[in-house]
Amino acid sequence: MLKGKTALVTGSTSGIGLGIAKALARQGANLVLNGFGDVEGPQAEVRALGAQVAYHGADMSKPAEIEAMMKFAADKFGRVDILVNNAGIQHVANIEDFPTDKWDAIIAINLSSAFHATRVALPAMKAANWGRIINVASVHGLVASTQKSAYVAAKHGLVGLTKVTALENATTGVTCNAICPGWVLTPLVQKQVDAKAAANGWTNDQAKAALLGEKEPSLQFTTPDELGELAVFFCSPAGNNVRGVAWNMDGGWAAQ
Ligand code: NAD
Repeated sequence: MLKGKTALVTGSTSGIGLGIAKALARQGANLVLNGFGDVEGPQAEVRALGAQVAYHGADMSKPAEIEAMMKFAADKFGRVDILVNNAGIQHVANIEDFPTDKWDAIIAINLSSAFHATRVALPAMKAANWGRIINVASVHGLVASTQKSAYVAAKHGLVGLTKVTALENATTGVTCNAICPGWVLTPLVQKQVDAKAAANGWTNDQAKAALLGEKEPSLQFTTPDELGELAVFFCSPAGNNVRGVAWNMDGGWAAQ
């Protein structure tokens, strides 16, 4: 379905971003990966699905590096047709204890990076009259939890940016939508599981059960593969007129 299209997924060396990259690769898209840590393993995984793969190590907190990454992708594959703004970090603390540098980093990586990548991607998408911008927000783009001020502010902001991007392009073939996962067992969440286990003297399984039990009625983690299939839907012809939605895949979290 996506043969000949190029997708750039930020923060795709791990977790949800890698899951979305693999789902798009299975549909025939070329992939530009981004993110830190092991960068060879994820590239090999996506290449094994038959995709042409490139990697750029832009730090998503730095607008100049984001611009360089977008130019790299366009030089390599001609154009970015599908932009998935996924890179994100978390820090958990009450507001009065929240380190100001963590606040700045979360706003930069989880929110401003999507603005910078989108503003550079849009002209070529509009010229082609086809494009898909998918912002990986969170159920925390819809509802709040304590101790996540920067994250909740950034994700609510990202849902707002999604709506504006969708509206400004509503008469074109460029759509923009947000995906709002509940708990997904990635390294970002494993850190929160570990902290809960340490604080309460629990096993890993007890901490996971407690995390799910607090918020997620299904008591199940959503998987990166499931989120990848939602991204594929947004890219499909059936998604042509889906514009500005914040689609939660959260086991019923936001329904409460
Ligand atoms: P993860 O830690 O597994 O992956 C994060 C990715 O972002 C990694 O590839 C990492 O290298 C990259 N990254 C981090 N900082 C970066 C930077 N400055 N520049 C470039 N890349 C950077 O986390 P994840 O759970 O897969 O999270 C992916 C997205 O999904 C995030 O935006 C997160 O907020 C969102 N999300 C996650 C969950 C969850 O339960 N895991 C729920 C809702 C939303």
